[in-house]
Amino acid sequence: MRIVLLGPPGAGKGTQAARLSARHGIPHLSTGEMLRHAAETGTPSGLRAKRLIDAGNLVPDADVLGIVATRLHDADAARGYILDGFPRTVGQAEALDIMLETHGQALDAVLELRVDLSALVSRVKARADAAAAAGQAPRADDNATTLARRVNAYLEATQPVSDYYAATRRLSPVDGMATPDEVDAAIAAALARRPTA
Ligand code: ADP
Repeated sequence: MRIVLLGPPGAGKGTQAARLSARHGIPHLSTGEMLRHAAETGTPSGLRAKRLIDAGNLVPDADVLGIVATRLHDADAARGYILDGFPRTVGQAEALDIMLETHGQALDAVLELRVDLSALVSRVKARADAAAAAGQAPRADDNATTLARRVNAYLEATQPVSDYYAATRRLSPVDGMATPDEVDAAIAAALARRPTA
């Protein structure tokens, strides 16, 4: 099963992707994690990505597409995957469609976690506090200033991605304001409604 999870920062994509991954036995592919990992390697493109991520800006499509295309060829992605944080621009969504078509494949579901933007600040702050309580460093981009820029990037670049999938009748909206268990159940119901699920 090939699933795309859309939603603003703090919508709960990572939480639900982990649950879907366990339930369906397919990998959780987070472009944010891939890019943070690339940044740690210290390569020039990794360091460029780090500067953009830490400032709350998007990494250029070409860089992200290169990383995703390589990852989708790994053996564990052959049976499907959950894409979290990708596609984030219409250009990425179009490129993903071309990649899939080349392999005679299609997405099974595009799930959009819808949340009130006013809830995002407290959710992201809770994530930073939880990291601190667990003795981990919070993500460099989990602060109020950077979050505002990430939300803007979402509204400008990623909201049109929802429209892109809605226009081709592939979008399944899910209420992301409910509890994680309720969101999980709503996602399972949305997947069950799909003929290919
Ligand atoms: P969140 O959804 O909470 O913003 P992510 O881990 O998905 O967290 O993304 C963190 C950052 O990584 C983004 O703000 C952006 O800079 C970069 N990033 C992740 N995925 C993409 C993508 N598909 N295209 C461009 N930049 C990306």
